[in-house]
Amino acid sequence: MAYAYDDQNIFAKILRGEIPNDTVYENGQALAFRDISPAAPTHVLVIPKGPYVSMDHFTQEASEEELVGFMRAIGEVCRLEGISDEGFRAISNTGHNGVQEVPHLHVHIIGGRPLGRMLM
Ligand code: 5GP
Repeated sequence: MAYAYDDQNIFAKILRGEIPNDTVYENGQALAFRDISPAAPTHVLVIPKGPYVSMDHFTQEASEEELVGFMRAIGEVCRLEGISDEGFRAISNTGHNGVQEVPHLHVHIIGGRPLGRMLM
């Protein structure tokens, strides 16, 4: 599958510094910032710095350095937010059926309260 990346999406603008964000963590491959509309006490979005639409796209085309940097960023966010011990949810809404609003790969890190079961 060929993936078309729209560089005018809101997270691309955040990465270019055109839109402000509340950064929680950053490394060479990833940026983590607070969701503008938080669903829980901790709600952080982790995005790769490269132009990837989805997890599918990312895992097919990203380098090992990008893959590792992105996953490490997720772990760092959980430690920095103090949610590792009590637990959290990591979700990546994808495509039409996943109701993905922003077409740049992002993982929602949600925690800080009991989240209930997610069976839909
Ligand atoms: P999706 O539905 O694509 O999984 O999630 C997109 C998320 O991006 C939503 O939770 C929404 O609140 C968040 N969001 C949309 N625009 C902005 C923005 O300009 N800044 C930040 N920090 N979050 C945004």
